[in-house]
Amino acid sequence: MKNADLFRNETDYPDFPAEAAVKRLSGALTFPTVSYVDTARVDYTAFQRMQAYLRDSYPHVAARGEWEVIGHSLLITLPGSDPALPPALFMAHQDVVPIVPGTEGNWTHDPFSGDVSEGYIWGRGAMDIKQMLVGELESAEYLLSHGAAFRRTVYLAFGEDEETVSHGAMAIVKALRERGARLAFVLDEGAGDVTDAADWGAPGEYTCSIGMYEKGYGDLRLRVKSKGGHSSNPFHGTSLGRLSQAIAAIIENMPPARLSESVRYSLKELAPLMTEEPMKTWAKDPDAHEAEILDWFTKRESLYHLVKTTAAPTMISGGAPAGNVMPQDMEAIINFRMIPADPPDKLIGHCRALVGEDVELDWAQQIAASVPSEIESYGFRALKGVLEHYFDRLVFIPAQNKGATDARQYEPLSRRVMRFGPFLEEEDVSAEGVHGTNERISIRAWLQGVRVLLRLMEETCVKDDNLA
Ligand SMILES: [Zn+2]
Repeated sequence: MKNADLFRNETDYPDFPAEAAVKRLSGALTFPTVSYVDTARVDYTAFQRMQAYLRDSYPHVAARGEWEVIGHSLLITLPGSDPALPPALFMAHQDVVPIVPGTEGNWTHDPFSGDVSEGYIWGRGAMDIKQMLVGELESAEYLLSHGAAFRRTVYLAFGEDEETVSHGAMAIVKALRERGARLAFVLDEGAGDVTDAADWGAPGEYTCSIGMYEKGYGDLRLRVKSKGGHSSNPFHGTSLGRLSQAIAAIIENMPPARLSESVRYSLKELAPLMTEEPMKTWAKDPDAHEAEILDWFTKRESLYHLVKTTAAPTMISGGAPAGNVMPQDMEAIINFRMIPADPPDKLIGHCRALVGEDVELDWAQQIAASVPSEIESYGFRALKGVLEHYFDRLVFIPAQNKGATDARQYEPLSRRVMRFGPFLEEEDVSAEGVHGTNERISIRAWLQGVRVLLRLMEETCVKDDNLA
């Protein structure tokens, strides 16, 4: 099935200036706003030129909004008339990843051309994530140019270094905290993968995930010391043997799987659509069948990561230089992706209890899972409602986000931080393009995503009359 077959109500907002909007996105793609960890390499004039271009391109947003440049990040405040309504914040980031040296020639269109051709808008950032940044500005501009008055304050927040260190998002959050801002909801990029629900017992149905939190990330280092020696006398074992046993002990005895709120909610949503046993029966009463459901999930590739902290041994070093020599000091790394129930401190304690005392453990790097956002909430309901209007064959389920984004920085300001880019590009195009070569977005998928953003902004910030 093609994602485009799922699009509905594409004739909404018939006077939306599609052609001019495509040109504006194309223009934004011409600025090489590449971020590097080494900020000395960043061309900040590209950011400045793009910000000037955006101001010129969106005259109503420019006139009505307060544009603040914080570092090189951009915070636009469009004041609402009702101070009792907490503001809504729409995110994106200005920066893009570099073009891998040597691959420039593989691009059908120059990565910073912004070419519009063959039904696509081409360029680095077309999928990550200038299409969202420009789409949010298009939404605000359309509403303001049609005389809409925001009742709720709208923030548009565009970081400068999401692909590297997120300092831009941190600076924006600090500024908002100092003003005492509490947010009704936050929308950032993320999730949006369309998956056949066969493993849920609902073959032929399709789920699409909305990211409600990020899993934690940790590189656990294991070290074993040894003097080595001739391998004809391995009476005390070798460092490689002990390290292997430690790795095996950990991956075979991971902390138990858990049913998160997200999975429980998804079971409830999908239950009426399930046609296959045993899930059909279990989903009716997840509490009574928790053990069976967890067992089912952990045995399926599409589901196990939703309920379990995963462990992937990825690196090993220090092996002997020859087959008849015992290795000396050795080191290995296991990469974990942690569910919220397994914070790093607890996980390393769990691992220590599994390995011998001669194996040293520490985190080479770690960050705990982010705080899961509220599912039964105004922001999630509003987003889900709009998405169902535009993609009525999809079942939208709350889930974890695959990667890390700027979004977690905003968690102190709201318990409703959602990661969802509404641009349902075909899978082969996005797999190739995001951070890859020939990044592009189809005009049709982009315009459909802009409709989602526009309607969400309209329903929650213009029309809204409940105090959420
Ligand atoms: Zn991104």
